[in-house]
Amino acid sequence: MKMVTHLFTDAGRTWRQAAKVNSKGALIYQALMEEMNGPLGGVLAAQIQRNAQYIKDVPADIARQMTEHIMSQSMQGLRHTDIAKNLQQLFPHMTDVKANLIARTETAKTATALTQSRSEMMGIQWYRWRTSMDDRVRDSHKIMNKVLIPWDAPPSPEELHKEASVGTYHAGCIWNCRCYAEPLIDLDFIEWPAKVYLHGSIEELSRKQFERLLPKTQAQVV
Ligand SMILES: [Zn+2]
Repeated sequence: MKMVTHLFTDAGRTWRQAAKVNSKGALIYQALMEEMNGPLGGVLAAQIQRNAQYIKDVPADIARQMTEHIMSQSMQGLRHTDIAKNLQQLFPHMTDVKANLIARTETAKTATALTQSRSEMMGIQWYRWRTSMDDRVRDSHKIMNKVLIPWDAPPSPEELHKEASVGTYHAGCIWNCRCYAEPLIDLDFIEWPAKVYLHGSIEELSRKQFERLLPKTQAQVV
């Protein structure tokens, strides 16, 4: 169980990628499924349902079927390219481009939803936005790299980058985004001063200033 928790805090990487390194794939999947049978399953299901409403152009019940399908496949560790193929079998009228876009986006959203649900259950209120650090990262997300974000107030990266807003959302939760959320479990892991998303802008805070934002219990945890 610790291994699973670690894997998902350590990335939006799939557990199957990680399992390649430590050859414990079956064990990890089993642990994840056990975890899903507990309270996490319910929290995550609610999160996924909320995601479903963002799939436009298809009726709500189809969108829900799609997200559930993608969720279970990404939990099994399938790559988004394979998920896209399976999606097209289920919904044959869907174009390649559309299936790929939905599979990629929903897989990243599932990873973030899982991290958010776990954070919620453990009382972790902040995460660090991480990009994939390559040329394909959009400019509005480049400025988000390593910024601390409160789970209860997602930013609008476009607005922060002086572009037209496409709404507020968490890392990984918009089309073609490969960013991921890294839960803030220990203030020692952060280089201070750090960039913090606060009241609609990105500010640089010292550790002391940041600690003041944390409720007492959270300060004790970290
Ligand atoms: Zn991104």
